[in-house]
Amino acid sequence: MARYGMVIDTKKCVGCADCVVACKTENNVPDGYCRDWIVEDVRGAFPDLHMEIRSERCNHCENAPCVRCCPTGASYTDEDYGVVLVDKDLCTGCKACIASCPYDARYVHPEGYVDKCTFCMHRVREGLDPACVAVCPTKCMYFGDLDDANSEVSKLIRSRPNHALIPEAGTKPKIFYLL
Ligand code: SF4
Ligand code: SF4
Ligand code: SF4
Repeated sequence: MARYGMVIDTKKCVGCADCVVACKTENNVPDGYCRDWIVEDVRGAFPDLHMEIRSERCNHCENAPCVRCCPTGASYTDEDYGVVLVDKDLCTGCKACIASCPYDARYVHPEGYVDKCTFCMHRVREGLDPACVAVCPTKCMYFGDLDDANSEVSKLIRSRPNHALIPEAGTKPKIFYLL
């Protein structure tokens, strides 16, 4: 199993939300919901403060509580790419996964199943980048196999300071923000 993840350069993100619009369009995300969103965060302590603009989504955690707690097996980790997905035909809409996710990454689709970022697996399996990565005008997002030492994501993580979100939750998130 590969271990696909994302690296996002916060120095290049301008918060334009093109990633959010692209995702809604590509994935028919219903009005009032989103699979990705923009957060403005001030990090550090005075006088060493910096503003970070982040494009956030499901972190496709390696130790995913949403997968462990799902009573029907609807939430699972894809065997080829290590991506966390939901089988909408198996989902009963019980919301156990929503309660377990520290990132608030899931929502109940109006059709009754739980939905979230899929890392655009329908595109990735065709050799394309996720829609949000492909449209970013500043090219601040990178997608690839974290287990491949030669992938761009692996090289960036090795060469630049970075952080993941809420590591203390122990879910082993696979999105890394370059500082
Ligand atoms: Fe599950 Fe939330 Fe982690 Fe996504 S971010 S894999 S929904 S726990
Ligand atoms: Fe599983 Fe669906 Fe319940 Fe989430 S809402 S835990 S995916 S059955
Ligand atoms: Fe949306 Fe695809 Fe980007 Fe996930 S990877 S936020 S599903 S466009």
